[in-house]
Amino acid sequence: MSANFVSVIFCRNCYSRYVEISEWEGGRAVLHCRTCGTTEEIAHFTLGRCRVTNTELQNARDSQAKRGKAEK
Ligand SMILES: [Zn+2]
Repeated sequence: MSANFVSVIFCRNCYSRYVEISEWEGGRAVLHCRTCGTTEEIAHFTLGRCRVTNTELQNARDSQAKRGKAEK
């Protein structure tokens, strides 16, 4: 069995995990939080989806980067 490390994106406004790319604006992806409606553009990253266990999702929440502090 092998494990794969991935990054999870959370909304910093409401801590939701329901973040998606809702549209493209001139080559930039528009991140959109489905929970609170916050949007923001990104230029050089995109998102992919896969299924993870609740335990792994909690690990992602516990290790998330905070303002002024890098990811654990
Ligand atoms: Zn949000």
